[in-house]
Amino acid sequence: GAHAVGLHEWLSRRAARVPRQPALSCDGTRWSYAELQQRIERMSAVLAEGGVTSGDRVGYLGFNDPMFVVAMFAASRLGAIFVPLNFRLSGPELAYVVGDAGIHTLVTGEEHIAVIDSVRDKLACARFIHRGGGSAGWEAADALMAQPLAAPPAVPASADDVAVIMYTSGTTGHPKGAMLTHGNFWANNLNEMLLWDMVSTDVTLNFAPMFHVGGLLCGSLSTLMAGGHLVLQRGFEVAAVMQAVAEHRVTVTFGVPAMLLFISQHPDFAQADLSSLRLVAVGGAPMPEPLLRLYAARGVPVHQGYGMTETASMITFLNPDRATDKLGSCGTPPLLTEIRIIDATGEAITEPGTAGEVCVRGANVMAGYWNQPQATAATFTRDGWFRSGDVGYRDAEGFLYICDRLKDMVISGGENIYPAEVESVLYDHPDIAEVAVIGAPDERWGERVVAVVAPKAGKSLTLEALQAFAETRLARYKLPRELRIVEALPRNPTGKVLKARLREQNRA
Ligand code: ATP
Repeated sequence: GAHAVGLHEWLSRRAARVPRQPALSCDGTRWSYAELQQRIERMSAVLAEGGVTSGDRVGYLGFNDPMFVVAMFAASRLGAIFVPLNFRLSGPELAYVVGDAGIHTLVTGEEHIAVIDSVRDKLACARFIHRGGGSAGWEAADALMAQPLAAPPAVPASADDVAVIMYTSGTTGHPKGAMLTHGNFWANNLNEMLLWDMVSTDVTLNFAPMFHVGGLLCGSLSTLMAGGHLVLQRGFEVAAVMQAVAEHRVTVTFGVPAMLLFISQHPDFAQADLSSLRLVAVGGAPMPEPLLRLYAARGVPVHQGYGMTETASMITFLNPDRATDKLGSCGTPPLLTEIRIIDATGEAITEPGTAGEVCVRGANVMAGYWNQPQATAATFTRDGWFRSGDVGYRDAEGFLYICDRLKDMVISGGENIYPAEVESVLYDHPDIAEVAVIGAPDERWGERVVAVVAPKAGKSLTLEALQAFAETRLARYKLPRELRIVEALPRNPTGKVLKARLREQNRA
């Protein structure tokens, strides 16, 4: 097997080459590559002293923070598996994930001690470490790292060794842990470097939560591999994003559509200095076209990508040179990844324009779900393609268009309706701030289209007005039959609309 593909291996080599180059900044912290590497080695000594060895799981619960990065590479150095945890989960939800992953040592930011303590008696972890000082039953990372411990030798990693278990948000039942290998990260880094031209002068801003693929992978790790400067923001705050771009002369960043929507609606957007940005990747959810046009008009280079947890992120990306003529497409696969569209019987669809389930193959596809052989088997086709659960089609030139998720698709009177298409039209309405389209059970049609709308401040809307607005651009069967007005849409921590919750609320 190939060696030296491990996260900690390429990072330590990078640190040896450019020790003085800035590696990581967050709030007041600014570390060079040598300083980052030194912390990683100290933390690996701390973890090893507490009994962490090869194959053990090390959890991290907290906002984006240098300690997240340190804990991940330190665990990797010991051959251990890093498990980033979603800080929005409740105590019992966290207890489920911590138990499922069998976490040995749990590291948290101070903010999250209380939620862990609320379920402490249900957790079988050997050790609890937090960033700050003094709290009963917890050890302080700073004090531990100040000890004169010698770092154990780095454990070599093979491409197939699991590096990270990343839990899906669990919109259907319990969250599942996607096993992402060192080879998966290596492949995604190469995919990004070869498509995005990542170089050592890049400054990448990361404001998406790192327990999620968007935050961990879209630009962040490839920046460190390339020797660039990674700037972390603890959370997503619109004004702070624009400030950071100007202050650090940020060249690359990633956001989900909701984040780009909120940035564009901020009063400072028109004046902000965004001139340093050479690439803003957007993905994680369907991107409404009006929003793409708005950024294009402002001169900010926003390019759509398509990816997911199970594929260690990138599946396709739209190159800047095709941004205008392929607006709305999420592009073509990067160099190490292939896609195929299949019909309901599993046959490959080759005609352009015909929609089916998107399948993925490549070195970036996960090893499977942790402890879930059945779920793993169900998500791979017999010939080894990963089934994305998304519906899409390719045009004659092979450019992929994602229609929507299979499970969000509305079937009305036998016709398939993709909510993302209807949303894209409604986003052009001047009085709409946010909109989500869902299906509701309907006696006559099976399902009917429901628009859940948050109007702009001081505006009101009626169903008839919405239908009149949309009817010139949408077939009649796609028009909303019901309107629900809300103040804001429910979203997950990465900003995705929680459609399952909207459907439940609509039934209630
Ligand atoms: P879960 O799978 O548990 O519901 P999740 O939505 O957070 O969780 P992710 O892996 O974060 O899972 O997201 C992947 C999904 O996001 C894709 O399967 C797809 O539905 C959607 N997605 C990502 N990029 C795009 C895009 N460019 N256009 C449309 N949809 C996208």
